[in-house]
Amino acid sequence: MSTPFAPPKTATLFSNWIDGSWLPGEGREIRAHNPATGQAVSVLREATQDDVRRACESAHLAFDNYWRTASGERRAEILLRASAGIRDNAEELAWYEMAESGKPYKQARAEIDRSAMLWDYAATQARSLTGESFGALGEDYLAMTLRTPIGVAAIITPWNFPFLIISQKLPFALAAGCAAVVKPSEMTSASTLLLGPILQKAGLPDGVCNILAGSGQVTGEAILRHPLTRMISFTGSTGVGKHAMKVGAEQLKKVSLELGGKNAHIVMDDADLEAALDAALHGAFLNAGQSCNQGARLLLQKGIAEEFERRFVELARRIPVGDTLRDDVLMGPIINEPQYRKILNYIETGKTEGAVLAAGGTFREVNGGRYVDPTVFTGVEPNMRIAQEEIFGPVCAILTFETLEEAFEIANATGYGLSAGIWTGNTSAALKAARRLEAGTVWVNTYLDGPAELPFGGVGASGIGREVGRMGCEEFMDVKTVQFRSGGYQPRWIGKAL
Ligand code: NAD
Repeated sequence: MSTPFAPPKTATLFSNWIDGSWLPGEGREIRAHNPATGQAVSVLREATQDDVRRACESAHLAFDNYWRTASGERRAEILLRASAGIRDNAEELAWYEMAESGKPYKQARAEIDRSAMLWDYAATQARSLTGESFGALGEDYLAMTLRTPIGVAAIITPWNFPFLIISQKLPFALAAGCAAVVKPSEMTSASTLLLGPILQKAGLPDGVCNILAGSGQVTGEAILRHPLTRMISFTGSTGVGKHAMKVGAEQLKKVSLELGGKNAHIVMDDADLEAALDAALHGAFLNAGQSCNQGARLLLQKGIAEEFERRFVELARRIPVGDTLRDDVLMGPIINEPQYRKILNYIETGKTEGAVLAAGGTFREVNGGRYVDPTVFTGVEPNMRIAQEEIFGPVCAILTFETLEEAFEIANATGYGLSAGIWTGNTSAALKAARRLEAGTVWVNTYLDGPAELPFGGVGASGIGREVGRMGCEEFMDVKTVQFRSGGYQPRWIGKAL
């Protein structure tokens, strides 16, 4: 049961969490606003280069002095206490998540709950870190591989699922034995900053996890560039991800990127159409479409296309949009003005490209919030911009196809490759799709699904590396090869002659 939380009446002032204490950043003040009301929710003091240096040094010391050698058992205990702390504080975390990102409160609560489960799972990984042994190298020879934590991880996250995404990275980094310097999006920092004291109470030694508030250009950039961060784990847009990779390359840091998507959601004639319809709506419009996994392209096989399209459009029009505090509301406002304008521009682009606006396209500003109704384009051609580019809003492009081959061709025709889905009653079509769709995840007869055991990540412009699951933990580790000889040392190099 979560501790009840009374929402603050004025904006909350947040400092940076460095070495186990709140330290006000030395930089400018940044305000995060509620996208539904325009009111300030949080006031941040941006971490400067000096603050970043302090955080990196603290993380490095904590890593070297205790965390890298802490037993898996101890790490697991702390991670489990952290997940209990998250559940204790779920109402507060969900409130800030809702207030800063503009997602429905009910959805925010579900995301905190799912996040706590990721911390539980990471605890199991902390106790299961193993290498390999090589026992067949010869009589006097034995070798093994050890997995060792990389060091201080720079963890940078986006605004759209702040707590869920930090929970896909941080507990796995900690389970691996890494220390971390974390920077959430300046638009949605509160829930991540609140993790600081939760982790301290759970027993995490000070300095192992430092959380900094600030913009990408100042704080993010300094974290990427600091020589003590040995790995970059970044989730965000493809453009910034490429930049992070270039910065990492200068110091040969390991770089793991979770980036944008333009995901194809395929429905075949023989699918369970009721289930597919609900999943297609959920996939397209969850979080007002501001989701990397959005089923932004709905690919319908010709036999069912007309009827499926009709019902999809009809239901999309009925999705409740509005007050994020109401339990029946499924879509809130758009995060900010630039994103709102970008979505409206894409709606215009869709019309001028010749697609048919079958639902939505309507938008409004109400009491400080900017809303776009669920928007559906039909008659979309694969090469149109609305079928190629990530819009990051509640806009779904419907395309049709005749054969499975044609569906693969359309689905694979963007540079992205985060996820894809297919609904079919035909096992052989499902197996073919699993192999042929170019994506990090292929969902068959399900969508936006993901137990903590399963790795997640993208190919192509959607990223490099995997998070969550066993691989999510291994991502934060190096492999060291250790070789023992107990005799029979290889033939002498200098030999007896000398
Ligand atoms: P963004 O790229 O603008 O920002 C992401 C983070 O990077 C923020 O914390 C930001 O402050 C920081 N940043 C920006 N410039 C930086 C710089 N020069 N140096 C260091 N850090 C910098 O993305 P966003 O608008 O917050 O999020 C939306 C994007 O994220 C979409 O493209 C979406 O698809 C993607 N996303 C991907 C996944 C995934 O798992 N693949 C999940 C969620 C979101």
